[in-house]
Amino acid sequence: MTTTALVDPRTATVEGATRESLAGLGREALGERLASIGVPERQLRMRVSQLWGWIYVRGATSFDHMTDVAKDLRQTLAARFSLDRPEIVSEQVSVDGTRKWLLRLADGKDVETVYIPEEDRGTLCISSQVGCTLNCTFCHTGTQRLVRNLTAREIVGQIMLARDRIGDWPGAVPDDPAGLPSGARKITNVVLMGMGEPLYNFDNVRDACAIAADGAGLSISKRRITLSTSGIVPEIPRWGDEAGTMLAISLHAVRDTLRDELVPINKKWPIRALLDACRAYPGLSNAKRITFEYVMLKGVNDSIADAKALVKLLAKIPAKINLIPFNPWPGAPYECSDWEQIEKFAEVVNRAGYASPVRSPRGRDIMAACGQLKSASLKQRASERLGGAPA
Ligand code: SAH
Ligand code: SF4
Repeated sequence: MTTTALVDPRTATVEGATRESLAGLGREALGERLASIGVPERQLRMRVSQLWGWIYVRGATSFDHMTDVAKDLRQTLAARFSLDRPEIVSEQVSVDGTRKWLLRLADGKDVETVYIPEEDRGTLCISSQVGCTLNCTFCHTGTQRLVRNLTAREIVGQIMLARDRIGDWPGAVPDDPAGLPSGARKITNVVLMGMGEPLYNFDNVRDACAIAADGAGLSISKRRITLSTSGIVPEIPRWGDEAGTMLAISLHAVRDTLRDELVPINKKWPIRALLDACRAYPGLSNAKRITFEYVMLKGVNDSIADAKALVKLLAKIPAKINLIPFNPWPGAPYECSDWEQIEKFAEVVNRAGYASPVRSPRGRDIMAACGQLKSASLKQRASERLGGAPA
């Protein structure tokens, strides 16, 4: 594991005033900013498209790079605005290649973003809030007081910053001004599984997903964006209508008595209501399934009877089941299930026709795994983990 403290070399101040960053803004907001510096109404659409391409396709970090934008406009833009990303406080690289960035937002609050490279994909796990208002008993983030929601710009900024750091902009490939072929992209998937409950920051997360999915920009399709929720039931149909990304549900228990304890929001919206909302999620099919996350807690929710109840519970929902070995954190009141037990549990799930991937803990040496603040999203069949170091 290596840790590097990074100081952002770009300055964000002009004569003591902070310049607002355009990186992470939507088309409408960008148009407003351009209008505010005198770009005529009739040019706005064209200018927004130009900037959009520079910011979101090429990842420009300086207005100077925007060669098809008139020089005086570039100068005005540079005087008033920046293209800064959130500031990186530190970057940690795990022995398994996972990277975790600690980011400092403009008001001094910190959040984390994690990149998990795999053979056939690269997953970026982003945060939606500073801390979390909920307090699931097995989650480290839940022990932090919520400080605030992230803005859409701060959410998109995490993707841009990750692309900067891992060289995932088309400019990184010589002679390819049109863009990296999509197969060459390092970040192929985005999961909202970092800090926070994304459905409690609905509008900003929705707007950020729209910017990320824009085909003329970052171009991360909604099929490759997954929102994970602890079960904010009334927001699930709204999310389906307004955002329509893939959905993951932090289920973790098959009985209300236990789920009330592990995921206390269950007292408000119990399992039955949650699953009804899942059944009604738009566009579900065998090709578009809901992922159910199930953290394996020793002696708590990991019995064979629980496994059988789980498959029964999900019987009529197009579902995937992700078994997540519990990631410990200092003072945590649980232990991870024994590996043998996870396998037995997975076997029941398997036999019921689910692929039962066990999420392989990644980046544990840098506390980047699920719920240590962050969530790894890698999946591995239980059988492939046989003989591997258990969590
Ligand atoms: N708030 C959202 C998204 C962030 S948590 C949610 O709860 O779904 C992302 C995932 O990590 C959730 O499934 C969560 O239950 C899981 N998680 C939290 N703490 C964990 C831990 N210590 N070990 C393993 N998984 C954990
Ligand atoms: Fe919040 Fe999700 Fe952690 Fe629960 S598991 S405390 S909802 S971040």
